[in-house]
Amino acid sequence: MPERLADHTTLRLGGPAERWVRATTEDELVAAVSEADAAGRPVLVLGGGSNLVVADDGFPGTVVEVATGGIVPDVDVDGGDPAAAASCGGVMVTVAAGEAWDDLVAHAVGRGWAGVEALSGIPGSVGATPVQNVGAYGQEVSQTIASVRVWDRVLRGVRTFANADCRFGYRTSRFKADPGRHVVLSVTFQLRVGTLGQPVAYAELARALGVEVGQRAALGDVREAVLGLRRGKGMVLDAADPDTWSAGSFFTNPVVDPALVPDGAPAWPQPDGQAKTSAAWLIEHAGFGRGHGPERGHLRVSLSTKHTLALTNRGGATTADLLALAREVRDGVDRRFGIRLVNEPVLVGCEL
Ligand SMILES: Cc1cc2nc3c(=O)[nH]c(=O)nc-3n(C[C@H](O)[C@H](O)[C@H](O)COP(=O)(O)OP(=O)(O)OC[C@H]3O[C@@H](n4cnc5c(N)ncnc54)[C@H](O)[C@@H]3O)c2cc1C
Repeated sequence: MPERLADHTTLRLGGPAERWVRATTEDELVAAVSEADAAGRPVLVLGGGSNLVVADDGFPGTVVEVATGGIVPDVDVDGGDPAAAASCGGVMVTVAAGEAWDDLVAHAVGRGWAGVEALSGIPGSVGATPVQNVGAYGQEVSQTIASVRVWDRVLRGVRTFANADCRFGYRTSRFKADPGRHVVLSVTFQLRVGTLGQPVAYAELARALGVEVGQRAALGDVREAVLGLRRGKGMVLDAADPDTWSAGSFFTNPVVDPALVPDGAPAWPQPDGQAKTSAAWLIEHAGFGRGHGPERGHLRVSLSTKHTLALTNRGGATTADLLALAREVRDGVDRRFGIRLVNEPVLVGCEL
């Protein structure tokens, strides 16, 4: 029986893969991708499947599942003097692409490494985080990534990109802009050493912690507060809760001419003079509330009942069902506000 992508994606959608390789070492990962490339076979590099929408027809090529492991700090501060490490600019931690992102965050918080605590609870693998510059609650991985080591499928060699060369932006990077070219092998993070997190940069999180924006809180408290907020929005995976059978936020927050931001909608100024507004606000104000779907004939998919930005599989759905709902929401927002929402997850073999 061929492996089905539906068994490897958080949306629980996607047909069979023609070929499947699970790579547990870096050598296996590079070999699997290189062999498929040499044979002219399409390749899909798969992490945790939490940002993927795969066609019902499946994938006509090799899925390479990244299952490598290892979290290696340059200075092992356990039992040593954290202050000494901190005075040298913190700890540099090199992490294999296949490590689960939230395991790394838990490990960092437990060790007293600050800088990723607000990114608690995000599903998926470490190797995927630089691809869309994962972010939440005022932090982005680009703030702590020192470098990204990749297999370059065009140059057929290993390369290391320093942070400044990754072209990080809001939910984007050079890896996202040049899809499929770079297979992330490992990521090196530079983290501060201490008991307090980075200054809290998000009002909702600051309120939950009882601090002001810009103040610090204990690392463990930040992690717990973020997990609590995320659970309330169905943004922590839970096999028993279909509100989490999603790809997280389905649309990115649009960045537009400030004049286009509707009255009453949030407008966050951007360095280039544009304004970022809230996709969730636009969706709600275009008439799509939480749980939207069944009343419009979408029987097996709906917006999450906890968060309008997540499109969810209520059980037994197909990718075609999900895309029909996504189109309805995107086109409804466009008609109402003249702003075209763009999908955040990667679409494989299908389009909106
Ligand atoms: C409930 C939920 C909540 C979420 N919350 C957030 C959030 O708060 N913030 C946020 O930014 N995202 C969020 N996401 C989206 C998602 O978790 C992230 O984008 C995550 O980094 C995807 O990791 P993954 O390993 O699952 O990638 P996959 O879904 O497996 O792959 C996504 C893309 O990355 C590529 N890729 C994966 N691994 C590699 C690699 N090693 N090298 C090269 N390319 C690779 C794939 O080919 C694909 O194009 C959420 C998703 C869910 C389901």
